[in-house]
Amino acid sequence: MPRKYTYGPFQSRRLGLSLGINILLNYKVCSYDCVYCEIGATNKENLVSPEYRINAPPSFNFRRELKDILKYVPHLKSLSFTGYQGEPTLNENLLDFYSITLDVRRDLKWTNEPPLITLFTNSSTLYSSEVRERVKHFDLVLAKLDAATENDFTNTNRPHKDSPDVNTIVESLVKLRKDMQNKKLAIQCLIYNSYREDFISNDNKENIEQLAYAIKKIKPDIVQLYSIARIPSEYFVYAIDKKRKKEIVKIFKEIIKNDLIEINYY
Ligand code: SF4
Repeated sequence: MPRKYTYGPFQSRRLGLSLGINILLNYKVCSYDCVYCEIGATNKENLVSPEYRINAPPSFNFRRELKDILKYVPHLKSLSFTGYQGEPTLNENLLDFYSITLDVRRDLKWTNEPPLITLFTNSSTLYSSEVRERVKHFDLVLAKLDAATENDFTNTNRPHKDSPDVNTIVESLVKLRKDMQNKKLAIQCLIYNSYREDFISNDNKENIEQLAYAIKKIKPDIVQLYSIARIPSEYFVYAIDKKRKKEIVKIFKEIIKNDLIEINYY
């Protein structure tokens, strides 16, 4: 049976051995068009409002496919609902996929701890309480926050015109953190630089400081700072180096001043 929903397993820098789960279509649909996107640009017609919903329920084959693969990797660390073809929370049937995954995980034997069920989101839909209700079930949610000023948000994530503003996104992450009892929230910040003199990347003093203040307010369990690792959507952006990541972590720590928040860079 050809695989439709899963890819990998692959060694993830942040999660260990992971199986990717794609619950979207076979083309990219996203509410953002990030300059650094590793799956290419979001076509105009597929750059959708965060209100847009895809109705793509799991077929019977999802359970089968998952079981067939998982029996070979009893040491897996994460079952990851990823942005492989865009923003997974746009799928109306997110919880149906989650429930089947939970069931399959329960039925299998694991070498150590069972893998986490992890969700990657670009955070654009989290202002909706209905979406937060779904998202809060995941063991670990990795939520994108690359920018904390409106200019940096527009430049970096190039959101659909109906996307919420940065303050609304930060507030929705504060709410999600409160909703996620006994589950973990990680904020992911991708920081990059630009070759173009007329383009200000998100690695600027104001954005880095505002990001730290936003994180201080959200109080996530984890912050993951990283940079571009594959071919980006735009030719004019490039990865920041390890030295700069360390400097940003230092700024974050100085502003956040909360030892309960683990801050890592990759
Ligand atoms: S949110 Fe993710 S999938 Fe969407 S454009 Fe940005 S990096 Fe790509």
